[in-house]
Amino acid sequence: MLRCMTARLPPMSLAGIEPVIPVMPTKQDAVEAINARYVPKEGSDPREEPAGDGPVQFHHHQQQQSSNVGSDSGSGTPTPTLGSPGILAAEPLFLQIDENDTDPHVNFSRATALGILYRILTRKPLASPSEPNAIPRTWLSKCIDSYLKTFHARWPICHAPVINEATDSVQVIATIVIIESWLHGDVKLKDQILRIHECLVKQFYRELNECDMDPTQPWPADLYQLSLLNVVFAFETGKDSVIRQSRMLFSLLVSALRMNGCFQEDAIETQRLTHYPGDFRPWIFGTTERWKRIATCAFKVDTYLSILYGQPPLLRRAELELGLTSTFAMWNSYGIMVFFDRCRSEPWTRGNYNMSQLDVRKPEEVPSGILPEDIQLCLLGLWNDIWSLKKETAVNPDIAALKKADLYHKLCLALDQLDTIVAESRKPLVVGGYTATILKSYLGGESSRSPNWRQDVTSRLDSCIHNIRPLLLLLIIHLHADIRRMRELYLCPNPPLQMDPSAASRAWQQNMLAVQEWALSPDGRTAVVASLQVWVAYKSSLLMDPSQPAYCFDPIFYMALSAAATVLWAWTMNDEACVCDPAIPKSDIAHIGMHLQPDIQSWIRGGSGSGISFWGQPVCRCHVASNVADWAETLAVAGKTWEIAADDASMFRGTWLNV
Ligand SMILES: [Zn+2]
Repeated sequence: MLRCMTARLPPMSLAGIEPVIPVMPTKQDAVEAINARYVPKEGSDPREEPAGDGPVQFHHHQQQQSSNVGSDSGSGTPTPTLGSPGILAAEPLFLQIDENDTDPHVNFSRATALGILYRILTRKPLASPSEPNAIPRTWLSKCIDSYLKTFHARWPICHAPVINEATDSVQVIATIVIIESWLHGDVKLKDQILRIHECLVKQFYRELNECDMDPTQPWPADLYQLSLLNVVFAFETGKDSVIRQSRMLFSLLVSALRMNGCFQEDAIETQRLTHYPGDFRPWIFGTTERWKRIATCAFKVDTYLSILYGQPPLLRRAELELGLTSTFAMWNSYGIMVFFDRCRSEPWTRGNYNMSQLDVRKPEEVPSGILPEDIQLCLLGLWNDIWSLKKETAVNPDIAALKKADLYHKLCLALDQLDTIVAESRKPLVVGGYTATILKSYLGGESSRSPNWRQDVTSRLDSCIHNIRPLLLLLIIHLHADIRRMRELYLCPNPPLQMDPSAASRAWQQNMLAVQEWALSPDGRTAVVASLQVWVAYKSSLLMDPSQPAYCFDPIFYMALSAAATVLWAWTMNDEACVCDPAIPKSDIAHIGMHLQPDIQSWIRGGSGSGISFWGQPVCRCHVASNVADWAETLAVAGKTWEIAADDASMFRGTWLNV
């Protein structure tokens, strides 16, 4: 029996339209259901489609009759969830939305909202009649918009056009509110936020455990989505204790997805035809696409966690037997007319090309041209190869060296492809050309007929690429450097207490020798070039909008920056040569693609007799402190939301800079 939350709570993604569709929906039912849910938000810029792209505008607030809408579907009828056994494990949770409060300067705080949500989730009664028990609609809408602009842009797990503050479940709303509050709120709210998160994680863990692993039953899509969102949120806090707790939930989620066959297209199709029938195109799109989004985001967070903890990833790209995702534009079509409008230019053939087939050496195989997210998927898969290679090096060094060269080649190709996409996106538009495909793929709330659409789309594309580059550079660093060993040597110089001092000292000496050897090798030089490029990448991302706060960046940026600082420090501490003398020839690192240039390549191969400079400053022991100080400053600021960055910054400052 399926006793998951999807059985009784309305879902958040396209899934959001399930509860109002009868078991065997007719086309008319589906149209009405989707019209009711595919509603552009009033006055919310990222989600409003300007007139022209979508002539039909729906205003669901007129359809809402009651201000007291809870976890029911909003249609006022009991939830006839598809495939639901109709048994409610517990009374549904109700969140009151205050519809009347239209004052934009409403005096309602995040702390109050968090308090209300926690009380509802824990089913506690109101302490006194005067205690606030409703969240104003205007406040909640703003919160969702803010969530969509930041977190959702890098983790597009939900189907944004169907998120609806009045009809989505309390768990959905709570998840969005805690994520948004973590990124934008006061640090004083952190305890309150984590209390709600813990409560949700426990609930989802229990529900996943209680689910029947019968693949013929309807899969609890919403439970999976919510679980994944909460795992990703845990990762985005950068708080070790929170991440550890959520990793248990993630392991369970991965097992459930695997056992049900959620990574296989044919199983998804069977599931759709059996439990979610209907031939209305947006419905088919949403019920299929959500599985690809779950798969790709699960794969991404899995890779990030694996890199962060130095443990093997749970997932392999080879097991993702799914067609490529739709474009960002298709997944973010606000309004049914926009959906059909974009349908015409969507490269649907992407769906015929398997994620597991992707290969950076054959970008031309991707129908309609490779997109940045495809390159990202390749990179995430490469982490697995890099991880295995590290184990293999000790056993079979010759084969490992060949594999390493091959992996490095792939990473360089990927970097080239990202640059090509950026260059193509600046070319004149030709109907049906690659430039047109790239740009149209990144339409969001704006219409392709509005005057500034190209500028909006280009900056969205750029920010997508800016979040992929640090992952790529981090992979180059890990392929050529043992970050863990360097951290042990340079950040925790005291041997572990339980070790015999002489054994500890022998181990320390061996590590030191290995790092010294590395620093004089092409590996060391490759890693140090990539490390400097991480900072170049960071600075060039800032150029787009110098005022953008730290939380606008994917945490992978800070993971890369932290590894880069470690590499730069270890390398300069070991590289004997000082290259400050102006007579020593130096290649300057000033751009991201510089390592592909002949002078840098020849320095990497040869090394001695020449050096490198970084934006004109020699890279040697004399200058490393000033670089590390800048990087630590950035990490310290990022630490407000991605907490590990603050820990690293204070370690770098305390150990290396004596501050
Ligand atoms: Zn020097």
